[in-house]
Amino acid sequence: MSENKGIIVYSEKHDLLLEILGKGREIADKLQKELAAVLIGYGVQGKANELIKHGADKVFLIDNHALTSFQIEPYLNVLHSLATKYKPETVLIGSTRNGKPLAARLATRLQTGCIPDCNRLSVDEEGRLVCERITYGGTAIAKITFKTKPQIATIPPRTFEKPQPKERNGQIINFDVKIETPKTEIVETKPLEVSAVRIEDADVIVSCGRGLEKKEDIVLLEELAQILNGQVGNTRPLAEDRKWFTEWVGLSGHKVKPKLYIACGISGVIQHVAGIRDAKLIVAINKDENAPIFEVADYGVVGNLYEILPALKEALKKQLQ
Ligand SMILES: Cc1cc2nc3c(=O)[nH]c(=O)nc-3n(C[C@H](O)[C@H](O)[C@H](O)COP(=O)(O)OP(=O)(O)OC[C@H]3O[C@@H](n4cnc5c(N)ncnc54)[C@H](O)[C@@H]3O)c2cc1C
Repeated sequence: MSENKGIIVYSEKHDLLLEILGKGREIADKLQKELAAVLIGYGVQGKANELIKHGADKVFLIDNHALTSFQIEPYLNVLHSLATKYKPETVLIGSTRNGKPLAARLATRLQTGCIPDCNRLSVDEEGRLVCERITYGGTAIAKITFKTKPQIATIPPRTFEKPQPKERNGQIINFDVKIETPKTEIVETKPLEVSAVRIEDADVIVSCGRGLEKKEDIVLLEELAQILNGQVGNTRPLAEDRKWFTEWVGLSGHKVKPKLYIACGISGVIQHVAGIRDAKLIVAINKDENAPIFEVADYGVVGNLYEILPALKEALKKQLQ
């Protein structure tokens, strides 16, 4: 990679890394530049070829026992050394709980800018990266370019499609970097008790809002979700105020991209809608015909969810028999 050239992509989440590689390939082709993926961890060498098949021209491999699990200091040192040596023009990092602070700290070290949570990426006539992200509480989309390089942006999961793997040639480079002993030590890791499928990965989400009167009524949504092979979601007040859930869908919660989103007793305030705008099909059930959710819904049912949900369940059961 010559001076200030090429794109580097990294995420500690393998699927997200593949998704970003797909978009990175498109941009690299347009700019006729090189695309490199960064693979950090221990015993991860076996994944390098998959990254090449998904579009990487090069894979920088940093395989070290000290990097077994994500820790911000050593991972940041690796990316910083790589960026200092190879001088990429653009660095795309997965927007995860680990990836976001990593990108921000890398930008600080490299004295450049960082644009978080980009939903769209393109390139302008001058070859600069153009990032689009939702802003002002979900009411506007900001288009931002950089004044400095490298251009660092973070990309949320499921923003871009994972590309189809193809047989291609690529280079795997063992990147030699001094791994400092981390200042913190992971004493124990425990799996989080979560449902089998993460809500971001669900194809169908049956979601409830304050129209649901009692916690026990969640079963109405669970039954429907089960028939449709989906997950139950919810608005923020059901988690924050009523404590029925620990997470929620929306601007300050999970941004979802299901094939079908059924909003039950949800008003459709902008902060909630900002998290579902990429759903392929939105069905809303609300007893208020003027509820804003109907403005974004593809199909709307004006009615009481306590009547509609059992009827819908029965109809679907018959249909799917
Ligand atoms: C900074 C900030 C960030 C926020 N982030 C988020 C976020 O990420 N996600 C989020 O969800 N919220 C978020 N909120 C909260 C958001 O502003 C709304 O308060 C919230 O989304 C409203 O939730 P709701 O639709 O469940 O409740 P409501 O707005 O009270 O709507 C309930 C709806 O249920 C309908 N209804 C009532 N009974 C029935 C029935 N029997 N059958 C059918 N319909 C019925 C009513 O007509 C009404 O439309 C945020 C707020 C702030 C200030």
